[in-house]
Amino acid sequence: MKICSITVDVDCLNSNFKGFGLRKPYYSYREFGLGIENILQFFDQYNVKATFFFVAKDMEIAENAFLLNEVAAAGHEIASHSYSHPQGFRLLPLEDKTYELRKSKEILEDLTGDEVIGFRAPGWNISDDALPVLRSLGFKYDSSVFPTSISILLKALHYYAMRRRDALTRSTLGKLYYLGSPSTPYRTEKQKLGKKGSSDFVEFPVQVTGLFRLPFFATFHLSYPSCVESGYKTIKNRNIINYQMHLSDFVDYTVEEFSQEIPQQAGSYLPLSLKLTLDEKKRIWNRVFRIIAEDYDYLPLKETLAYV
Ligand SMILES: [Zn+2]
Repeated sequence: MKICSITVDVDCLNSNFKGFGLRKPYYSYREFGLGIENILQFFDQYNVKATFFFVAKDMEIAENAFLLNEVAAAGHEIASHSYSHPQGFRLLPLEDKTYELRKSKEILEDLTGDEVIGFRAPGWNISDDALPVLRSLGFKYDSSVFPTSISILLKALHYYAMRRRDALTRSTLGKLYYLGSPSTPYRTEKQKLGKKGSSDFVEFPVQVTGLFRLPFFATFHLSYPSCVESGYKTIKNRNIINYQMHLSDFVDYTVEEFSQEIPQQAGSYLPLSLKLTLDEKKRIWNRVFRIIAEDYDYLPLKETLAYV
């Protein structure tokens, strides 16, 4: 059986603009309900059971926690995207990393009554010292390593876009050596997340293409939709693929109600997912989901673990 795991980072504007450095004093979280509803509908059409990485702090708002349970009830996996989405996760002292991981796991498990075994760091910003912590807390896999050949370029672009911010919110992607990490899921070394070994811990790298290791995920496809089919050709022989998306991929931020929450200043950096209409985005997702469905079954990462 060939498996595709669709993985969704449930980032609200609150988390997005922590990273993009354009924070507003108040966020309505209105996109949370809209986005989740749209995702559940869309995934149903393609018989997708996915993995959702939630920021646990957002669940302190009752309506958000209610929606998380809707996601779980629809058969999707709930995993951790940290407690408070620190963009510079890799740069945090070990004590703070431990806190972010432990607290998120506790909150998410309390809500669903299910064990949380997966983690994705904010901004793929992870380092090897998180591995022993993840294992000691009972996590069984991570999906933060992004082994793309354009890591240095992505780091530079992000750094430039955030240049007025402090180091913690400016940082993105993990250790530089991860650009050479395996591009298919693997058991890690005991101490190295980016190296293949024989530990009981699994890394599901963010998908890159077979040729040139270009990103193969939703954000990249919003900018370069023509790479959907050509990129897919280079990976369709793989047994397992991991397609990353975000909540914002299913929200129409161009409507009036978000105009107060999205920075409008000319020249400010805004990701494309906040600028395109939902229909424009869904046209691309339909292409992606249709083509993948020809070769793969859609299962969450926790069910994919057994095949690594
Ligand atoms: Zn995130």
